[in-house]
Amino acid sequence: MNFIFLGPPGVGKGTHAKQLSQLLGIPQISTGEMLREAIKQGSQLGLAAKGYIDRGELVPDQVVIDMVKQRLQAPDCQKGYILDGFPRTVPQAEALNRFTRIKSVVNLLANEDTIMSHLSGRRVCRDCGATHHIRRLDGATACPVCGGPLIHRDDDQPDTIRHRLEVYHAQTEPLIAYYKAAGLLVDVVVEGTIEGDFGLIKEALGLAS
Ligand code: ADP
Ligand code: ZN
Repeated sequence: MNFIFLGPPGVGKGTHAKQLSQLLGIPQISTGEMLREAIKQGSQLGLAAKGYIDRGELVPDQVVIDMVKQRLQAPDCQKGYILDGFPRTVPQAEALNRFTRIKSVVNLLANEDTIMSHLSGRRVCRDCGATHHIRRLDGATACPVCGGPLIHRDDDQPDTIRHRLEVYHAQTEPLIAYYKAAGLLVDVVVEGTIEGDFGLIKEALGLAS
């Protein structure tokens, strides 16, 4: 079973995709995390992507399409996977259509205040890539998962956040109509607690016990 998590930056795609991945035992494929890892490694892919990410723009379609296509061929994807942050444009969705079948697209919705607070309080672990919110860190400066240093992403600074939200509206939001027309869209409003919101997602997908 293959799923997509759709929604604006900071709505909680990564957090919920991770929980669903653990529940179903299928991998979470986060293109943002893959690109940040490539930058850390200094690979050619990372070099190509870095400028776009720092400016809050999208990395060119063909770069991410090739990266995802290759990733989905790995053996761990055979039983299914959860795409987190891909597709982000209509051409990406069309390309994905050519190499896979999607079961459901979970469209996460939240008001702008919730999103801004998630983004400005978000810290990411340099070593394991885990994301944490300062509200849940209780002043800790090390990653609760691996002890690595926590970083405030350059693209989580206020000006870049604003630009990423504009990019979302212009380039990614059209996917809502695209997947609605395909009969795959499942809307979930996520403005409660992480646990409560995940319960709503499970219910919407018919996975609640
Ligand atoms: P968020 O969780 O805030 O949505 P991500 O970690 O998913 O952020 O993505 C961070 C950045 O990586 C994006 O702003 C963009 O530059 C790049 N990126 C990630 N996924 C894609 C994609 N599918 N297409 C183009 N660029 C992408
Ligand atoms: Zn860590």
